[in-house]
Amino acid sequence: MAALLLLLPALCISNDRLAPGKNLSPGNTIISDGGEFALGFFSPSNSTLEKLYLGIWYNNIPSLTVVWVANRETPAISSSAPSLALTNNSDLVLSDANGRVLWTTNTTNANNGSVAVLMNTGNLILRSPNNMVLWQSFDHPTDTFLPGMKIWMSHKTHEGNRLVSWNGPDDPSPGAFSFGWETGPFMQSFIRNGSLPEWRGSVWTGYTVSSQYFANTSIVIYVAYEDNFDQMSAIFSVSDGAPPVRSVMSYSGRVEVSVWNRNSSEWAMLVASPDVQCSRYGYCGLSGYCDYTDATPTCKCLDGFEPVDNKEWSNAKFSRGCQRKEELRCSDGFLALPDMKVPDNFVRIGRKTLEECAAECSANCSCVAYAYATLNGSTANGDSTRCLVWTGELVDMEKVVGTWGDFGETLYLRLAGAGAGTERGSRKNVVKFAVPVLLACILISICIFICFPKFKGKEINGENNKRRAIRVLSISDELGHEIPARELELPFLRYNDILIATDNFSEASMIGKGGFGKVYKGVLGCREVAIKRLSIGSKQGLVEFRNEVLLIAKLQHRNLVRLIGCCMEGDEKLLVYEYLPNKSLDATLFSSERKSVLDWSMRFKIIKGVARGLLYLHQDSRLTIIHRDLKASNILLDATMNPKISDFGMARIFGDNQEQANTKWVVGTYGYMAPEYAMAGIFSVKSDVYSFGVLLLEIVSGVRISSTDYIEGFLNLIVYAWNLWHDGKAETMIDSSIVSGCIVDEAMLCVHVALLCVQENLNDRPTMSSVVRILDNGSKSLRVPNRPAYFAERINEAGQAGDSVQNSNNTVTLTVLEGR
Ligand code: ATP
Repeated sequence: MAALLLLLPALCISNDRLAPGKNLSPGNTIISDGGEFALGFFSPSNSTLEKLYLGIWYNNIPSLTVVWVANRETPAISSSAPSLALTNNSDLVLSDANGRVLWTTNTTNANNGSVAVLMNTGNLILRSPNNMVLWQSFDHPTDTFLPGMKIWMSHKTHEGNRLVSWNGPDDPSPGAFSFGWETGPFMQSFIRNGSLPEWRGSVWTGYTVSSQYFANTSIVIYVAYEDNFDQMSAIFSVSDGAPPVRSVMSYSGRVEVSVWNRNSSEWAMLVASPDVQCSRYGYCGLSGYCDYTDATPTCKCLDGFEPVDNKEWSNAKFSRGCQRKEELRCSDGFLALPDMKVPDNFVRIGRKTLEECAAECSANCSCVAYAYATLNGSTANGDSTRCLVWTGELVDMEKVVGTWGDFGETLYLRLAGAGAGTERGSRKNVVKFAVPVLLACILISICIFICFPKFKGKEINGENNKRRAIRVLSISDELGHEIPARELELPFLRYNDILIATDNFSEASMIGKGGFGKVYKGVLGCREVAIKRLSIGSKQGLVEFRNEVLLIAKLQHRNLVRLIGCCMEGDEKLLVYEYLPNKSLDATLFSSERKSVLDWSMRFKIIKGVARGLLYLHQDSRLTIIHRDLKASNILLDATMNPKISDFGMARIFGDNQEQANTKWVVGTYGYMAPEYAMAGIFSVKSDVYSFGVLLLEIVSGVRISSTDYIEGFLNLIVYAWNLWHDGKAETMIDSSIVSGCIVDEAMLCVHVALLCVQENLNDRPTMSSVVRILDNGSKSLRVPNRPAYFAERINEAGQAGDSVQNSNNTVTLTVLEGR
């Protein structure tokens, strides 16, 4: 944020408020009474398109530090003369000279005579004449938490506020990381990367205030917690006289609390979460924990557990976690582990004493741990007991330093050979519960073996499954042997767990259908996942499975879909991915009812994200990977509309000096295939660049490449775009449903880049690194594109030359080019 360029105030509006009839425009600022904060327009320094944002920053701090942004998704451009006005209906409205509304407070009260005041706390308050707060910026934080702000979540509606990171140092648009409370069985705070957990706070044990003293700056930071009937909340404050302190959800994925150091004139970090690798969510694997009592925190196995793979563990690879040294029996007791951040994925059982909580866990053979607290600070529903039990895997634990009293608690872990019940130990409990429980377990086991003989000898983890998969994956050689199957690092999941998660692959849990299988939604462990069930016996299904498991599992990038596990059972091949709630791009982009949800700033963010993902595949990962099937239905959107490239079933890897390859199996989708690929089977990074160009045109226009509805008289979307461009009318191709909020310069930049990407000659097409650079920084000297490939004309020829097979969703083709 320090890289932002502040527009120096040409004129200061003399006071701390805005009233109707007195607009705020770029160059002017409103200063809080006391001088701590300023409200005005700022521009990211790297923005060649001169984007302007309305924001609040520290007035007395020389390096511009923005704490709140109004129009983070809809920047203004300076030439459009934006201004902020207070309407007679008591709404703050940011609009430009063309009448385009970029942001508004949208209050429902229509009060004459309201006023907007910038407080010395950094809170912008909209107040009615009778001093009612109609709206305040503290209720709508962006990435920064300031003293006095509250982070909350409603028990009933699950509404709340979250900090959402910037997209980068010069890009205030919403990034991937967010922080806030979440419900589940019980409130916890989470940092998420899209929908995936990045870090988890410790489970609340009922303290009402936590405080931390920072000796070198002599300041104390307090957080006051409240759990009442309506909501769980936390308010952050600092000791009197402290210099400015802020807590930021950074674009690098950490919540960072920093203080302004007046001597060195810089922000000094006080504390950050996660602060070490091993405190990242699940970093130490199942049954592993991050031990903060070591000088350098590191992963350890819980007592009674050992690493699944000693060699990996000693090489600091912890993801496979730990396993029990000795199998559990129902009669086993519990070991007390003090000062723990207890694991995720628990069940809360209401109204239990500690003894009842222990008994509850003892009585259930599959209960592996419990923890207990009394919630003094809670008036939520008259139940101040907090009995948590775990029946699944134990994930995301820490052993904290005993003096961090507030954050650690005792975890009672069921362990082979451990003594009686709780730490307070009641032999009585063990006798009272263990005997009937043991009998029950024996009876249940007998029943299972009698009634379901096929369960006999069933594997208890995915190891057999993995061995079988390695055999299958090693046999065929479609991929060559670039990655030996023995290098498999991906978790192999149990088929039974997948059956349970998808309710036996029920219709109700099916969320999509592709050319080579159906996709189901389910919950595995703590995660919502998408499970792709590849068509049994399909050759392409096996290739897809092999590609994903051997290749994609090793790639990690925020613009690629994450594969988190797989499973093989008989002929079944299943791939398990992170679940992306906003589905595939085509579902929104081409739907007349929903396409306006994707406003221009979102579309531009998607374009840039896809470009970065493709650049990573081509250049930044340790391999050169050609996707070969980039299209709108293979772009999935996470909760923040961050795009992720998916479907690597057709991807190919290139060796170090390889630039192109030939295939007689042309696989891809009509319309997105580069001419040299469709006609001659030649593919390279430039054939992906071509597909990216087509995708760009689709995103700007909202028209499918295969559609002729909106482009009557032209052969296809590419020819249409090229003609408009030549006639200087390219603006008319912008999707009419977003045209009012669209930054035309950006959209035209995208059309220009698209036309460069779809040029007939592959050597004329830019690389993805130039594309990313141009999209990020703009360019005043872009080449004029040569004629595009009028490829649709020839696709039929290609189809006739070979054997074209169209799959069930009518998009993917396999064409055997003869004579090659
Ligand atoms: P094809 O494989 O023929 O190219 P496709 O890409 O649409 O077609 P799939 O990758 O099988 O097919 O996906 C089918 C649908 O399932 C997607 O369009 C999407 O709506 C949904 N889907 C797939 N993966 C996920 C995911 N990780 N999260 C949420 N939804 C998903």
